[in-house]
Amino acid sequence: MNAIDEARSADVIVVGAGNAATSAALTVHEQGAKAVMLESAHFEARGGNSHYTGGAYRFAHNGIEDLLKISPDISDEERESIDFGTYTEDQYFDDMARMSQYRADPDMIEILVRSSFDAALWMREQGVRFQPSLGRQAFKVDGKFRFWGGLTLQIWGGGAQLVATLHAKAEKAGIPVLYETPAVALLHDAGGVHGVRVNHQGQNYDLKAKSVVLACGGFEANAEMRARYLGPGWDLAKVRGTRFNTGKGITMALDIGAMPYGHWSGCHAVAWDLNAPPFGDLTVGDRFQKHNVPFCIMVNANGERFRDEGSDFHSYTYARYGGEILRQPGMFAWQVFDHKVVHLLRDEYSIRQITKAKADTIEELASKLEGVDGQRFLETVAEFNGAVKTDIPFDPNVKDGRCTESLAIDKTNWANTIDTPPFEAYAVTAGVTFTFGGLKVSTKAEVEDTAGNPIPGLFGAGELVGGLYYNNYASGTGLVAGSVFGRIAGKQAAAFARG
Ligand SMILES: Cc1cc2nc3c(=O)[nH]c(=O)nc-3n(C[C@H](O)[C@H](O)[C@H](O)COP(=O)(O)OP(=O)(O)OC[C@H]3O[C@@H](n4cnc5c(N)ncnc54)[C@H](O)[C@@H]3O)c2cc1C
Repeated sequence: MNAIDEARSADVIVVGAGNAATSAALTVHEQGAKAVMLESAHFEARGGNSHYTGGAYRFAHNGIEDLLKISPDISDEERESIDFGTYTEDQYFDDMARMSQYRADPDMIEILVRSSFDAALWMREQGVRFQPSLGRQAFKVDGKFRFWGGLTLQIWGGGAQLVATLHAKAEKAGIPVLYETPAVALLHDAGGVHGVRVNHQGQNYDLKAKSVVLACGGFEANAEMRARYLGPGWDLAKVRGTRFNTGKGITMALDIGAMPYGHWSGCHAVAWDLNAPPFGDLTVGDRFQKHNVPFCIMVNANGERFRDEGSDFHSYTYARYGGEILRQPGMFAWQVFDHKVVHLLRDEYSIRQITKAKADTIEELASKLEGVDGQRFLETVAEFNGAVKTDIPFDPNVKDGRCTESLAIDKTNWANTIDTPPFEAYAVTAGVTFTFGGLKVSTKAEVEDTAGNPIPGLFGAGELVGGLYYNNYASGTGLVAGSVFGRIAGKQAAAFARG
């Protein structure tokens, strides 16, 4: 049987092959129905943005006993030396509400938060392994690691391992994946959605199915849509992940009357190496990112600071760095560290593909910061150093209140004087991760039309759904949301297919 004929025998077509799509397809299979996945990418690039992730996975838990259910490999020694803390459902609710400035859809948050632990358990059952996120989410102080942001476990092997594991499971379940087969339209009439038109090896085919799950990402890889919806300049941002998330799933659904929902002019965008390629590189993964803003001063082309680098832990601020850098002259910035804090830098600061300057004096560093007004930079450093409240102890694991006083833009935590050589600086621009706007789905993952009614036979999950993120984002939520809503979409699509 050729690939197209195989797809014709499926009950449910799942568009996409990332985390949300594989979660949906595996759930369709669990429900006793037959799924097929459509993937725009070729085999090596499969799995969308999920493939590029570091695997941070934000779920609610009540401490080590819960964590051991997800990660039984945590040793007694690790239990001794790590303070895992707790991350209660209430804290998760607060984070989702606060990050979105109280705009996130309450029904969606409720489902996300209450199902998050179960989603992690289910991932574990699929063969996905987890490990403590040391170094990224906890620092070692006085011999002990202490988690500060609630995000304690990450997927072992990151996105590459996640995609390999879920796809191996799908293969075992006999779920075919049609590679290089983008969906181009939905087959639709007054009765609802009855399948998908695909392009396969240069030819269009109409694939009928009882139901369809759209899980094919946002529009972050589409420069035209970025400029149209995010605004001027966003077409010039670098794309952190896959080139295949061009918004087609969203536009196909809007074309048949689906409701746009969420923060259409908002996106997740980080500080990303200035010379990174235009789209993600799977051999580097997420490591073009430069997330240690809380320990640096960040200066623009004018040699001036432009944000409070220490306003919060990076997990709660990093998704906004990209937009802020995009608005600076020339769309770049330099992150400047002195020797006192370089031991805290994440692994992403030591990759080979990096735009870095290093110097033994601050004057020498000023001459090496390409594109920056060196004189003004030196003044900025002097003003900053003079304003640091050095009597407050520095502690990277808590919001330590070690601040500056009386600057035009104060740094409110983790302020250290920049005075100990060697000095290091890293050039960054805006790297867009994913877009916040998307489709409106019901609590059963049914895609709704503009009148608020479910479009029969059409379900949605993952990044293409709007309503969860507005203005900001708490790290590690995207993968959990894909698992949670992917599983709901799979269950409901299977039930719909059964009639
Ligand atoms: C560099 C990077 C690091 C990240 N790190 C983390 C992290 O540590 N933790 C976290 O929670 N989140 C992280 N994220 C965000 C996370 O990747 C997403 O939230 C999540 O993976 C989205 O899953 P998804 O299944 O909705 O989309 P994706 O994984 O992007 O999958 C979309 C799929 O649809 C396919 N597709 C697109 N259009 C079509 C079409 N027309 N027809 C057929 N197929 C199509 C794509 O090829 C892809 O297979 C990161 C993202 C990036 C880019």
